[in-house]
Amino acid sequence: MLNHNPPNINLTNISLSNINPPSKYSNINLNQCFFVFDLDDTLYQKHNVVEEDRTGIENIKLYPNVREILTQLKQNNVPLFLVTKGEVRFQNEKIDRLKIRELFEQVLICEYSEEKKKLFLTLLQKYPLFTGIVVGDRLSVEIRYGNELNMLTIRLKQGKYASENPTEAIQIPQYELNSWIKLENLIKTWGKKQL
Ligand SMILES: [Mg+2]
Repeated sequence: MLNHNPPNINLTNISLSNINPPSKYSNINLNQCFFVFDLDDTLYQKHNVVEEDRTGIENIKLYPNVREILTQLKQNNVPLFLVTKGEVRFQNEKIDRLKIRELFEQVLICEYSEEKKKLFLTLLQKYPLFTGIVVGDRLSVEIRYGNELNMLTIRLKQGKYASENPTEAIQIPQYELNSWIKLENLIKTWGKKQL
């Protein structure tokens, strides 16, 4: 009998640090890119701090260096977008408590994770000559959709899903960083508009 099972590839054995970014991403020009950030567990720690019933919302605060890095990017006229999934009022309350709304060109809130891909695509169509850079904590959402749309994908390994491993190749980010300081260092290696 023929075996129709797909080959059993163990992605947990792939060392992400050994994967080189595609050459088109090796020298990003900050004059020609835009950023899409996730909110929960990307800009601030949601995990074990705030529950879906709003418990703990008064305790949320940005991860270290987030405000400084976003401010520097904005001052360099790099378009920044926030794309977040959740109940509109709840997400807006978090954004206002964190006082980050003014840092973004646009805040986009969707009801389902799957809608993020469509929102990413809308932004890519808005900036057809730019490189779209996605920064998020979910391999199965931001990283997957970003990769599917040929964006530069950066995983921030923090929060609830920090220990998650990719289950398919499309979930492997181009960069995997465990802090915002590392993100700042990465951006500083890119050309033209230096932070
Ligand atoms: Mg998140």
